[in-house]
Amino acid sequence: MTESLSTATAHRALFLDRDGTLMYDNGYPNKPEQVKLLPGVCETLRIAHELGFKLIMVSNQSGIGRGLVTPEEAMQVQSRLEELLAQKGVALDAVYSCPHAPADRCGCRKPSPQMVLQAKTDLGVIPGDSMMIGDKISDIQAGKAAGCRTIFFNPLGMGDAGIGANYHCRSWTEILHIIRAVSSCPHDDFQIHEA
Ligand SMILES: [Zn+2]
Repeated sequence: MTESLSTATAHRALFLDRDGTLMYDNGYPNKPEQVKLLPGVCETLRIAHELGFKLIMVSNQSGIGRGLVTPEEAMQVQSRLEELLAQKGVALDAVYSCPHAPADRCGCRKPSPQMVLQAKTDLGVIPGDSMMIGDKISDIQAGKAAGCRTIFFNPLGMGDAGIGANYHCRSWTEILHIIRAVSSCPHDDFQIHEA
């Protein structure tokens, strides 16, 4: 059976890590002023959304579980991020975050794929048509375990180190190239920036 393009694109998503991927990594940010978007994020997300990708943030926020960030502070930081995105015409379709510390041994913290799989259930996303984008090995592991293609955001150009991501990108401009390529041939292999 052939799916129409509109049906196919309705089910794909970018799963987005937050700290170190959408915004500069500040450790455990607890103040809105600490939120600074990385260059090129907004343009890439805006175009990806036009191409039919839902934008779903999937973030470990263990600062809460570690007692370093209050839930209210975390909410303020997240609100500031969404405000900065909105100023550039980008709206996240959903936000999933794990507030637990590693010692809590929860089921949601990446590298667990649980948050991605929850989004799949909640939003009808097909992981195989979707991509996980993150700067940590745990992001790539979570994406792979959920069945997504993976983009390792690697601005410093580190070696693969066994990460096994489908693509390595040094900038959001490179990520945009990948998204455009995937979008024009969603079910085929293609050879651009292959890791
Ligand atoms: Zn958790």
